[in-house]
Amino acid sequence: MRLAILLAPALLLAALACPAEEAKTTTIPPAAAAVAETLRDRALQQDTAWDIVESLTTEVGQRLAGTEGDARAVAWAVAKFRALGFDEVRTEPVTFPVWLRGEESGEVLSPFPQPLVLTALGGSIGTEGAPLDAEIVHFETLDALRAVPDDSLDGRIAFISTRTQRYRDGRGYGLSVGSRVDGASIAAAKGASALLIRSIGTSNDRFPHTGNMRYAEGGRRIPAAAVSNPDADLLLNMLRREQPVTVRIRMQAATVGEYTSQNVIGEVRGSELPDEVVLIGGHLDSWDLGTGAIDDGAGVAITMAAGALIASLPERPRRSIRVVAFANEEQGLIGARQYAERHAASIRQHLIGAESDFGAGRIYGLRSNAPDQAWPAIEQIGAVLAPLGIELERGVGGPGPDLIPLVARGMTWAQLAQDGTDYFDYHHTPNDTLDKIDPIALRQQVAAYAAFAWMAAQAEGDFGAEPKGL
Ligand SMILES: [Zn+2]
Repeated sequence: MRLAILLAPALLLAALACPAEEAKTTTIPPAAAAVAETLRDRALQQDTAWDIVESLTTEVGQRLAGTEGDARAVAWAVAKFRALGFDEVRTEPVTFPVWLRGEESGEVLSPFPQPLVLTALGGSIGTEGAPLDAEIVHFETLDALRAVPDDSLDGRIAFISTRTQRYRDGRGYGLSVGSRVDGASIAAAKGASALLIRSIGTSNDRFPHTGNMRYAEGGRRIPAAAVSNPDADLLLNMLRREQPVTVRIRMQAATVGEYTSQNVIGEVRGSELPDEVVLIGGHLDSWDLGTGAIDDGAGVAITMAAGALIASLPERPRRSIRVVAFANEEQGLIGARQYAERHAASIRQHLIGAESDFGAGRIYGLRSNAPDQAWPAIEQIGAVLAPLGIELERGVGGPGPDLIPLVARGMTWAQLAQDGTDYFDYHHTPNDTLDKIDPIALRQQVAAYAAFAWMAAQAEGDFGAEPKGL
């Protein structure tokens, strides 16, 4: 008692002298860390996420935005959130143009007739009901195509053969994906009749990789397709013989009308500050070639399972845990953009967000753009994640794709960085199927998301979310 009396004036002075910054430091109460450790350890014993992604891939399968599979996925997600014990389940509409692939095929006509394994890029036009026959012109890179004079390709097909390199963090994708996204518009400006690219993927299986492309405003539109890695090699071997190589492409791809899908949201309601949310999630749509297991059934399953684990506790978190299964990520973050617009007035109530959209590999890093004042709380989360083999990393990384529109408006992000060494072997191919997921690795990811979300929701203070004018 006496000691306290003696100390009291000193504490008062210290408090007065303390800069405002320090007073705002965000921390997480020790009791919350203890609960997070329990969540983490429980997650390592459970296969909830595996059961969820098995259910999605088996009962729904492909769910290309705007197709019947999309509608079934939304109904599936609503039912699943309810079955998992979330306090509130709702949907928010998301409207976009519908792109359909239809039939497609390719072959070499000369000098050595052979079939080619190819697939249309998402958003591409088709070949207007007739085969498109033309000679190919090879470019090693998109920049090499950019460098040739306008109209110089004279109806031939531009073929870009850049190979995607394999890295744990997946950065090879970012280095090569420009050919897929912008290649067709650049090729059209050079006078090409179509674009063929080597698949933006790292496997030598004979599967082509699809993925989104876009046409430049006002430019000529030409069909765009990807050949598998072995087929790209085959074309290069033919070209090496210094004879013209002519190919035939048939594609029915087309954009047909509009569709309204839904972002599906499951919430574990906060006990003290229910309108403040920690957002986790993944995207519900997929490409149409596989069953969307790693992209992004895994992300939906991991974050649903993490939320469900928290919902199974006898107590509710202080703030709400919001799990969002975003609509139509693949064709341009459309569900995410519409979510960010709808919730633009409540950026400050979005305390922090983390999306799982990089497959099902183990998490090795915790990263965030949280400012100095909130970093102690991130460090506390890092300490609970450390036994999972997760290291705290500052100054690197970025948000999951569906968080980009929210982060642009001022939300703080966290990233649970996953090992993506084999992610681009399967991503966007017919080979993106359930067998590519390791159930034990999936448990580790649920453990990390559950501990992260719980601790963030219990924080004393915020993570620096600050609305930005757009
Ligand atoms: Zn994805």
